[in-house]
Amino acid sequence: MYDVLVVGCGLCGMVAARELAEKGKKVHIVERRDHIGGNIYDYYDNNGILVQKYGPHVFFTDNEKIEKYITRFVPVHSFYPECRTFIDGKAIPMPFSFASIDIIYEDQTYAAKLKKSLVNEFGVNTIVSVVDVLNSDKCEIREYGAYMYEHEYRKYSAKQWGRPIETIDPSVFMRVPVYISNKKPYLRQKYQYMPEGGFTELSKQIIDHPNISVELETDALDSLQIDNKKNWVSFHEFNGPVVYTGPIDALFQYEYGQLPYRALEFVWKTISKNKAPSTALSAFPEGDKYIRITDYTQFPPQELLGKAVIAIEFPVEYKADELCGNEPYYPTLTSNSRAMYEKYAELAKEYHNLFPCGRLADFKYYNMDAVIERAFSVANIVMASGHC
Ligand SMILES: Cc1cc2nc3c(=O)[nH]c(=O)nc-3n(C[C@H](O)[C@H](O)[C@H](O)COP(=O)(O)OP(=O)(O)OC[C@H]3O[C@@H](n4cnc5c(N)ncnc54)[C@H](O)[C@@H]3O)c2cc1C
Repeated sequence: MYDVLVVGCGLCGMVAARELAEKGKKVHIVERRDHIGGNIYDYYDNNGILVQKYGPHVFFTDNEKIEKYITRFVPVHSFYPECRTFIDGKAIPMPFSFASIDIIYEDQTYAAKLKKSLVNEFGVNTIVSVVDVLNSDKCEIREYGAYMYEHEYRKYSAKQWGRPIETIDPSVFMRVPVYISNKKPYLRQKYQYMPEGGFTELSKQIIDHPNISVELETDALDSLQIDNKKNWVSFHEFNGPVVYTGPIDALFQYEYGQLPYRALEFVWKTISKNKAPSTALSAFPEGDKYIRITDYTQFPPQELLGKAVIAIEFPVEYKADELCGNEPYYPTLTSNSRAMYEKYAELAKEYHNLFPCGRLADFKYYNMDAVIERAFSVANIVMASGHC
């Protein structure tokens, strides 16, 4: 028998398991899928190229503690991915910067004036939001803001979320900043890495501990019992602490309704290198179909002579029982969904040995560094709970 059950072998579950194992607890992980790693899972395709099944992932952080945590398991390759967005047939560097202005405005005298005006307004080498640009008193700056908002932020968000931008939590589109400089890094964090051998290799190393056992292709919800008289959860004969990283609404049989998610579908192609996009990531805010193309042959350290392996990404509405879109990817944050989640979170608190965490149980978009921190804190809470 084990001391702690972890539901879900994604990053959150794996890191929580490792922390508990290192503190001397025997941990059993059950995973619904036939592989470890959750959404960071990658594998080698027929060309020998490492591809990421659930969409492009790069590890990035400013947090030294998390950086040390990752590099203790695997060597890493620095990787500073680039992205271009396609608007009116132009390939514009993303996030928006002076390099983007030079491409958007054919009249370079106007472009130079606009850049000067932006520096006067916000200062040189600053980072602002599109809303700051839209709210400027100067009409040329407001026009630039309107261009970015209309052509990129509004269209991309509407396509990604399948609903008007006004109904989406503003934090979602504020994630893409505007640079008042020539610099155009896609990611701003100090450490930007690909693990040597990929994220599945990293996952293997995290759970490689004598106190950790893993059971794949097992849906915990088939056997998890919720006793609402004793306020306790159990799994077969096991009555100890349960770290739950699956969907919170499914755990409680959708008692307050189904939480909304956006899903993704991918079309994979091996194409000639000269037909591939020039950057590892390309965004397509226009049109009504795909939203992004990832070229995995531009991820280090790989290369495929004369060819590119691309994943074309189509956002769709999440529907658990359909053939397409049946994996929940991004929590759709609206005032209604937040209120519904809060009810589930309150309900979960009633169960003394239940510890929900991770993107599905917290109904929250986490980057990998944030989900690792969340797992550290949950492992400490489990240890302090006195249940194991
Ligand atoms: C398209 C995309 C791109 C991303 N890119 C980046 C990036 O570049 N950098 C970055 O830092 N972050 C990125 N992220 C975020 C990153 O994927 C998450 O931080 C991370 O995967 C969250 O891990 P998790 O363990 O919370 O969830 P998951 O990885 O989803 O793991 C949960 C696991 O629980 C399992 N499970 C669910 N229910 C049950 C059940 N009933 N029984 C048993 N098992 C169950 C699931 O099968 C899954 O394996 C991206 C996310 C997406 C969607």
